[in-house]
Amino acid sequence: MRKTKIVATLGPASANETAIRNLMLAGVNVFRLNFSHGSYDIHESSVKLIDKLNEELGLHVATLADLSGPKIRTREVSGDSMLLTAGEEITITTRDENCSPGLISVNYSGFAEDVKEGEDILLDDGKLLLKALGSNGLDEVRAKVVQGGLLSSRKGINLPRTMLRLPSLSDKDLRDLDFIMNRNVQWIALSFVRTAEDIELLRKKINSYPGNHPPRIVAKIEKPEAIDNAEAIIKASDAIMIARGDLGVEIPQEQVPVIQKKLVKLAIASSKPVIVATQMMEGMITGMRPTRAEVSDVANSVLDGADALMLSGETSVGLYPVQTVETMSRIISDIENSGIPYQEVQHIENQDRRISDSVIMAACDLAKKVNASALIAMTHTGYSAFRIASHRPASGIFIFSDNPKMLRTLSLVWGVTGTYFGKFTNTDAAMLEMRKSLVSRGYVGEGNYIIYISSIPIGQPGKTNMLKLSTI
Ligand code: PGA
Ligand code: MN
Repeated sequence: MRKTKIVATLGPASANETAIRNLMLAGVNVFRLNFSHGSYDIHESSVKLIDKLNEELGLHVATLADLSGPKIRTREVSGDSMLLTAGEEITITTRDENCSPGLISVNYSGFAEDVKEGEDILLDDGKLLLKALGSNGLDEVRAKVVQGGLLSSRKGINLPRTMLRLPSLSDKDLRDLDFIMNRNVQWIALSFVRTAEDIELLRKKINSYPGNHPPRIVAKIEKPEAIDNAEAIIKASDAIMIARGDLGVEIPQEQVPVIQKKLVKLAIASSKPVIVATQMMEGMITGMRPTRAEVSDVANSVLDGADALMLSGETSVGLYPVQTVETMSRIISDIENSGIPYQEVQHIENQDRRISDSVIMAACDLAKKVNASALIAMTHTGYSAFRIASHRPASGIFIFSDNPKMLRTLSLVWGVTGTYFGKFTNTDAAMLEMRKSLVSRGYVGEGNYIIYISSIPIGQPGKTNMLKLSTI
């Protein structure tokens, strides 16, 4: 059973019923809807298809909506593209006109106020580099092309050293949020997070909508400020994404691997899921096989301890979305079964629930001692599932819940297999039912040790106070 989860981005190559079904069958745990692309009609149809196919296939695949956040882009280029030559001096304007030779137009009105002389301006994932020569402080920046190349329409701009005064949620993000909050979505990611306050603001907006189980928040770490504020951001968020695409443009890319390792550790210590994203299987956008380097990257991200690995272009615009997921799934399973001891129980910070946290820790210790096949818990809030997973036990983690939305939320979490289970009335009966369910699906068999984690009396949310070891 694979522990590390797979997030797949939907796009033109996959946002249809057949592809979504095949991706689910290939093992996708979470679908990402990227609000930087695609119309509301398409996102609407994807949300509904995921709901419908979950029902049909008996799965709990999660939907993650990814907000663009404060991303600056160039405007349309007249013609297909324009050439920027090293050494050339150009003007960058905030006026709403097309880009043309010698002129680049950008969609952020504060650009000329924020960008200062000597700062780097990177275009198109850092492929092109300009250096700011000066600004009129109003609507124009003069810049020199350092690394030239072709520029086409609506390319992203990164300003690693500029203090941007852009709000963390744009008007478009707020419209997107409104759309998302009226749909069945379990996770919302925010791009270009800079501080914990960015997350707090998003949470406030989310909480202003009615409903009992608001979507959880993923903070995308892709700015130098976010690295500096990582601990506070992790604390304020429900999960993080190491968004290596923009991160590798915003900071020297050779620093990304070590940052990945540090952020994974930090997130696990706070019992927050962590997604490693971007270019994991890039070669499979156009080819049937990943490169050896990509196979190693996937393997090493598993060994780092990531909860989930994400596919972007591979599944959204690639030629082989399903094969990519199958290949990634095989690499993950293989490395997980290799016996390399990455499942170290780390230092997990106590949260506010001392009794629950301690019982869960003891259960995970015990699971290791007796080589248990299963850790079994009931949860309504999901709390114990996040906590158990953060100990990275070798045993299976089986979470039973009467809350279908929670089961879908937990699809992102390392090692968790969720099962729907109606109301429980007494602990003994519930344990018997859960065990039957696991035996009938072949997850556990005769002679296996299993550990139940529960609350007595039953059904008290957030009050895990009991553990029971037994054999089948
Ligand atoms: P994006 O985020 O695909 O939304 O840009 C991921 C990344 O930057 O790596
Ligand atoms: Mn990004």
